Amino acid sequence: MYTRFYCLFLLGLSAVHWLQAQPVQTIHGKMPAQKMGLTLIHEHVFLDWMGAERMQAAAWDNDSAVAVILPYLRKMQTHGVKTILECTPNYIGRNPRLLARLADSTGLHILTNTGYYGARGDQHIPAHAYRESVDQIAARWLDEFNNGIDGTTIRPGFIKIGVDGDSLLSEIDAKIVRAAARAHLRSGLTIVAHTGPDQLALRQVEILQQEGVALNAWVWTHAQGGSDAVRVALAKKGAWISLDGLGWVDPAERGGDSTALLNYVNAIVHLKKAGLLKRVLLSHDAGWYTHGVPGGGRFQPYTLIFTHLLPILREKGFSKKEIHGLMVVNPRAAFAIRVRKRR
Ligand SMILES: [Zn+2]
Repeated sequence: MYTRFYCLFLLGLSAVHWLQAQPVQTIHGKMPAQKMGLTLIHEHVFLDWMGAERMQAAAWDNDSAVAVILPYLRKMQTHGVKTILECTPNYIGRNPRLLARLADSTGLHILTNTGYYGARGDQHIPAHAYRESVDQIAARWLDEFNNGIDGTTIRPGFIKIGVDGDSLLSEIDAKIVRAAARAHLRSGLTIVAHTGPDQLALRQVEILQQEGVALNAWVWTHAQGGSDAVRVALAKKGAWISLDGLGWVDPAERGGDSTALLNYVNAIVHLKKAGLLKRVLLSHDAGWYTHGVPGGGRFQPYTLIFTHLLPILREKGFSKKEIHGLMVVNPRAAFAIRVRKRR
């Protein structure tokens, strides 16, 4: 009898341990989500805007890119950041070899992605995506998850997609969302969807629900483009609300009274009042060393959250625990790999 109790006790312990040790997939392999620490969930290092059918990865100059990007990553690390999700999708400059060099030089944990980006007028959607079925597209992404990206052993840690349009999804964008839903159910990877406005978020939710995916497997990316009401409604249903354009805010606008920054603050406070801070993710969407532009163009730093946003939230009474939740607990809950089915 004691043996039976002892076994139950051990089972209980291992369940707790399993929850804490759920993995994320970094470019250097699986790691317990507990180890992510302070995380920026949506940043970029390198981009190539030539378009899916014109892009030449062989022309990328990773040495020049490293020289520009490294000081910005190091500056970000002085604020305690341990992990970043690099959100540049395939066919816009996803560059796993560069990411590996940057991770080795900085000690940062970096996650990359699989998926296709249907925003910006679909110019980054490869031709095969129009011909192939939803399952064939999902199979390509799952192949990267199981076997590695572009001939490397680097595997994606999340699915990145993008949609655009006024209120309806185009046929190809709807197909990409459906492929992401199916790839999630077979991999457990979280779906990060470049979205923006309410209507595009709601259309995606319909597809995810048709496919049986729970909304806590989906990140409404650029949700700052939506409304308080729909952010609250979807967060209540489990969706992750990503307020992530902070790298493009000019804090000096109007003599230091930046409307853009206050819009973020107000959105976060609104979600807090609704008891939904646990569904919120924050990031800069900054970086953007751009291939083909001299010196990579103007590089956006990854620090405004620490220098401007968090101090305002603290002034407004956000506790240490709430800030820790936003920057540490929520990212690991969002990106720990597990299949999330609609109940
Ligand atoms: Zn982005």
